[in-house]
Amino acid sequence: MIKMAIYGKGGIGKSTTASNLSLAFAKMGLKVMQIGCDPKADSTSYLHGNHSVDTVLDLIRKKGKSVPLEELVTEGAGGVLCVEAGGPTPGMGCAGRGIIAALETLEEKDAFEIYEPDIVLYDVLGDVVCGGFAMPIREGYAEKVFLLTSGENMAIHAAANIAMAVENFEDRGYASLGGIILNSRNVPREREKVQELAEDIHSEIVGILPFSEEVQKAEEQRKTVMEAFPDGEMAARYQELARQVLTACKKEEV
Ligand code: ADP
Ligand code: SF4
Ligand code: MG
Repeated sequence: MIKMAIYGKGGIGKSTTASNLSLAFAKMGLKVMQIGCDPKADSTSYLHGNHSVDTVLDLIRKKGKSVPLEELVTEGAGGVLCVEAGGPTPGMGCAGRGIIAALETLEEKDAFEIYEPDIVLYDVLGDVVCGGFAMPIREGYAEKVFLLTSGENMAIHAAANIAMAVENFEDRGYASLGGIILNSRNVPREREKVQELAEDIHSEIVGILPFSEEVQKAEEQRKTVMEAFPDGEMAARYQELARQVLTACKKEEV
């Protein structure tokens, strides 16, 4: 089982990238479980035709800890197994603790042993890297962390913070950096700025996605690009990224 996480600033394209990557992995014959760790709880919605799924936290609130596993894990497009951790009532409670509770619940119910995914992909908000949002990189949940960023300053800043959190935990044998994915926004000097980030954090750019109208058009159809335009240029780019990410996961550390 390969366990990876995509971290990045809110709105940078994590869920879009994660959903298309999951489908690209599925096309390679791999069984994928995508776990949204963002209070927005829309990580997997395009895998469900833009319907929101019940979150783990909502289901626990409604039905208690005995809620059956089959209700926490739903099957989306391409057979991708979808989970949304969920979040607290806005203004109350701690989003990080919610993620911890959701991940612990999955573990207690043996979700990984029962579904036996080849790939577990966490889609995690990286604006705050407090203990809660760092959870997927601790305790052996994710093994490789991919930073998704554009060349926008705020996105680079968030990515640098996440890299620092990963570095702090790495000594304890937790997750390590898998690399940077540049999700282009066509800002000036974009490639150079992200390359500078890579050097600063001793990592590398493992894949580059263009800013693509196909993504927007697919969104209008409430679908992923992989479903809306399976033979288009962007689908090929996600397929290529899937291979690049897998290579980075398998790479031995030096
Ligand atoms: P996040 O999960 O990081 O909050 P989303 O995946 O919801 O971000 O994406 C935010 C917006 O960016 C969406 O409207 C999405 O269509 C758009 N987007 C993401 N990646 C691309 C891309 N490569 N080209 C064009 N638009 C993109
Ligand atoms: Fe919880 Fe982190 Fe928000 Fe603090 S910053 S309330 S620890 S999610
Ligand atoms: Mg998202």
